[in-house]
Amino acid sequence: MVKKKLTLIITCLLFCFAQGTFAQSKKKKRADKNASAKVEAKAPDAKDGKKEPKPYKKVIDSTAVTQKGLIDIHKINDKYLFEIPDSLLGSEIMTITRYSKTPAGGGIFGGEEINRQVVRWEKGLNNNILLRSVTYVIMSPDEDKPMAQAVKNSTSDPIIGNYDILAFKKDSTGKNNAGYVIDLTSTFDADVQTFSLDPIKKQLLNIQTFQKDKSFISKISSYPINTEIRSVKTFTTTPPRISTTPTPQIGVNLPSGLDAGVITVEMNTSMILLPKTPMRKREFDARVGYFANQYDVFEEESQKSDTKVFAVRWRLEPKSEEDAQKQKRGELIEPKKPIVYYIDPATPEKWKKFIKQGIDDWQVAFENAGWKNAIRGEYWPENDPTMSLEDARFSVLRYFAAEIQNAYGPNVHDPRSGEILESHIGWYHNIMSLLRNWYLIQTAAVDPAARSKKFDDKLMGELIRFVSSHEVGHTLGLRHNMGASSATPVEKLRDKEYQEKNGHTSSIMDYARFNYVAQPEDGVTTLFPRIGDYDKWAIKWGYSYFDEAKTETEEKAKLNEMTKEAYKNNRLWFGTETSPYDPRYQTEDIGDNAMRASEYGIKNLKRILPNLLEWTKENGESYAELDNLYGALTGQFRRYMGHVTKNVGGIYDSPKTYDMTGNQFEVVPKSIQKDAVLFLNTQLFTTPKWLLDQNILSKINPESGVEAIKAMQDATLSSLLAGDRIVRLIETSSMNKNNYSVDELVSDLKNGIFSELKGSGSIDLYRRNIQKLYVDKMIELLKPGTAMVRAVPVGVTYGFTTRRVNLAQTDLPSISRGQLNSLKNEMKLASSRMTDRMSKYHLQDLISRIGQALDPK
Ligand SMILES: [Zn+2]
Repeated sequence: MVKKKLTLIITCLLFCFAQGTFAQSKKKKRADKNASAKVEAKAPDAKDGKKEPKPYKKVIDSTAVTQKGLIDIHKINDKYLFEIPDSLLGSEIMTITRYSKTPAGGGIFGGEEINRQVVRWEKGLNNNILLRSVTYVIMSPDEDKPMAQAVKNSTSDPIIGNYDILAFKKDSTGKNNAGYVIDLTSTFDADVQTFSLDPIKKQLLNIQTFQKDKSFISKISSYPINTEIRSVKTFTTTPPRISTTPTPQIGVNLPSGLDAGVITVEMNTSMILLPKTPMRKREFDARVGYFANQYDVFEEESQKSDTKVFAVRWRLEPKSEEDAQKQKRGELIEPKKPIVYYIDPATPEKWKKFIKQGIDDWQVAFENAGWKNAIRGEYWPENDPTMSLEDARFSVLRYFAAEIQNAYGPNVHDPRSGEILESHIGWYHNIMSLLRNWYLIQTAAVDPAARSKKFDDKLMGELIRFVSSHEVGHTLGLRHNMGASSATPVEKLRDKEYQEKNGHTSSIMDYARFNYVAQPEDGVTTLFPRIGDYDKWAIKWGYSYFDEAKTETEEKAKLNEMTKEAYKNNRLWFGTETSPYDPRYQTEDIGDNAMRASEYGIKNLKRILPNLLEWTKENGESYAELDNLYGALTGQFRRYMGHVTKNVGGIYDSPKTYDMTGNQFEVVPKSIQKDAVLFLNTQLFTTPKWLLDQNILSKINPESGVEAIKAMQDATLSSLLAGDRIVRLIETSSMNKNNYSVDELVSDLKNGIFSELKGSGSIDLYRRNIQKLYVDKMIELLKPGTAMVRAVPVGVTYGFTTRRVNLAQTDLPSISRGQLNSLKNEMKLASSRMTDRMSKYHLQDLISRIGQALDPK
């Protein structure tokens, strides 16, 4: 009956490659058994050492230092006594634990989240208080009916703490209990998993035994809706082993662990009271890109358990019924509680205002949903002792002094409703060097300000503003919309007027970085993404207030009508970040045609390359910067190849509902697929010699680029002939003769790669290499193995179904056999015509290889 809880967590990384640091860390042999000291838990009837309640005044005496808040905290000597109000029993409390200070060089940073759970205080049987961890699996909407009881019985939440009541606080009548005093010192100066690192994180960091004598609570603060507990914890680390091939691993062998054998971290645990009345859920819609939360619901009337999937968003409500009416009439109104992001005081002064602008930029999107001043950035008040950066009531954009080239925008939401409660955006200092590389490589042919190693503050500030907006977008609930940029026709990317009005992508949530298509003669000067039509629509979908809708179902019907209307304009479409086959949904691409867009992109790369030496020049410096930027330039070229490749075997996937016209899945037309292969034949398999600028290569590399070109060609050829693409081509060409087929793909590739066979000229080294690669691949496909074929399920826009296909049981080996046979014959003819010695050797070698493969002796 109980199904597994599925929470959609899509990491909000703006830059994917920084993500792997933890995942790549080596797993250690075993987690240490002693790593987590248990709470002093006792059976409810245990007599030994049980403390009987004493009069309140005896326990909370005159030496107590008391702080009032969600939970009143009494500090007596080195003990922290928590006074749990009677009204809090049974309420759901979210606990979030973050690092506040971390060891240097560990790849972990103050502000990052390490643990998050929902807990609940409960009265025990014998003057004790229990702390349970609550798992959100199921909820029954019919609280009074028998079904609700069945659901409750099936979810017994684990007890993570059992505390003797030291004293009762009586209410004003002196009769009823108003609060219970318990001692939580040993929970927070110990290593309790709910409020510390989980075993996996410990393994990743090589953390071993908890050191009680070097650990303590440093501070506890209580506020109206939250209590903040800061503790210092020390652990021993696993000694490093001798390795003959040492490789640096971030997060493993922390430098301080190597020096001292122990590491010390400071953690902050926030206990936040979840809202008494959960916000009304807004049902997830695959046509709009929101993060989602889900759980299974059991209803008596329903014949199956339904899975509720709902969007994650902030609670924006009018201040009054009068305001709600105003908003309905089209007036903008201010929300009861606006969304406020504070800017970390550690942020360098000159960037603060740009980060704030990136937050304030969202105001126009909220105006589209009927709200004014709904969101704003604020500078952190200096010298205000009542405010703490880790306080869960404040959403903060944290600034980390780290080498990592990344930023992320997570949020903390109520698991019952999807209500976002707060958000801590992380910003790593080195993101700036990544922004510099991208902007230079993508726009320096057009924007003179990009032609330098160090951008001026105005340009860098604008880049920071763009990243700030993107990350804030995630914390408003928005996912990446990788399809947004495909709504802009390529030629419009070169249209100055159009660009000024609309920008190059309809969403800042796309990975559409900068306009690399605009040519120097076009005069386009707006090259940045900005909050666009899709973003405004998505905010309207998520944040429109429906005063008259009485239920979730009524609200859903209204939203459906709005969405159908919005879908008439493809600038408002959402394209999932996970589609394996839709060429419109790609990262780092722009425009509606990857072939045309990439041609313009390559024209610009050809303009930039000869200037790299001049733009990076600095006396006394090595050529490392040139090496770095040359790598960025070839990386950009490789991206173009990837964008084009996805059109081959491509399928458009546009989420549809029953009441919409047209099909959800459509095959990419043959003409486009053939165009993609032609592009690759022209730009990649015909040697891109312009990339081999020997003036640059001779300064950064002992080689001349022969192997580098081959590696690029190999990657694309392998991708074109990958099993899942082949399976899609077989499926789609079976439906209709006019669809592109595997045989046509292989023929088109062969005609391009072996174009020399038609004449009598020589075949140069680069071409001999790609021809050998091709023959090797075709021989491999005679015994092709299996392919994993993925699909995104309809109704959701995340996750995959996968199935395995045995390629030996498809037409693939037959096609490769047929193609190899005819290629062999063509080569025989050509080799007799050729006079160049190496070309002849090469063809004779390939003929012999094919002969052996087709007819092994
Ligand atoms: Zn992102």
